[in-house]
Amino acid sequence: MATQKTVLVTGGAGFIGSHLCDWFMTRGYKVIALDNLITGSKSNIAHLMKNKNFEFIKHDLSKPIRIPGKIDYVLNFASPASPIDYLNLSIQTMKVGALGTHNALGIAKAKKAVFLQASTSEVYGDPLVHPQTEDYWGNVNPIGPRGVYDEAKRFAEALTLAYKKVHKMDVKIVRIFNTYGPRMRLKDGRVVPNFIDQILHDKPLTIYGNGKQTRSFCYVDDLVDGITKLLLSKETGPVNIGNPREFTIREFADLVMKTHGGKVKLAYEPLPTDDPKQRKPNIALARKTLGWEPKIPLEQGIQLTMDWFAKNS
Ligand code: UDP
Repeated sequence: MATQKTVLVTGGAGFIGSHLCDWFMTRGYKVIALDNLITGSKSNIAHLMKNKNFEFIKHDLSKPIRIPGKIDYVLNFASPASPIDYLNLSIQTMKVGALGTHNALGIAKAKKAVFLQASTSEVYGDPLVHPQTEDYWGNVNPIGPRGVYDEAKRFAEALTLAYKKVHKMDVKIVRIFNTYGPRMRLKDGRVVPNFIDQILHDKPLTIYGNGKQTRSFCYVDDLVDGITKLLLSKETGPVNIGNPREFTIREFADLVMKTHGGKVKLAYEPLPTDDPKQRKPNIALARKTLGWEPKIPLEQGIQLTMDWFAKNS
């Protein structure tokens, strides 16, 4: 019988982290979720708490930690991730991206574990290359308000590759594009929870700027499929994982209205500083090396997310 593998998911009580915990739990792994719960929530993992294969550690990853026993995989997902969170938690965001990634790499090195770093399309900043390919260096304003997140993730990528080079570790980097689905915080300020919250409560949909900026939205199950394929592959990356179907925010508002049925008003608000004008992943690398592509159309994913929010908020 194969020995049971153990996975450490930092940020395991967060939106994406908790879906990763589910994926490994349903496949018989032992899962350790580590989270300081500043943006994550115990409710995301409540259904796993009594399972003997699951352990939760409340800890701030920017401080060192020793975890007893063997660990085969470390997935580093600890970080605030919505623009209002990382603006409000700017120093914590930089600390977890830098010191936290260092600590997570230290754990992986000590345990001889495979390490996977959650990076982001934000490393491309306000991109001048469209769609974004992994070899594009990006257009980030290091001293703008989003710099705390973008630069922390860029540092995390560089540190991960330094550990690979110096310590010969098996590492992977995934660049995650806008992802949505159940367990996003209704008040996390991102466009998907904002629009769903607003439409469920008959409030106007808030469009920042003229609504012509674009995003490409990936359902969380597709993302988890891509991340786990990367983890279990020979690829290091960085690999873009995201849905290449691109929408303007104005078009996205129409899709949300159509899914819900009926019309609500639009309220135009100022565009946040350095808000990227366009974003769409080129996923040729993921297609070629992982055989991955997203399967869930936005119409279906938004319906599933809306149903979840209607029940859980
Ligand atoms: N946005 C919007 N209305 C909202 C929230 C966000 O128009 O209520 C816009 C935001 O300016 C950005 C896009 O939607 O252009 C996606 O924003 P989000 O915060 O979801 O993520 P980002 O991709 O900017 O990190």
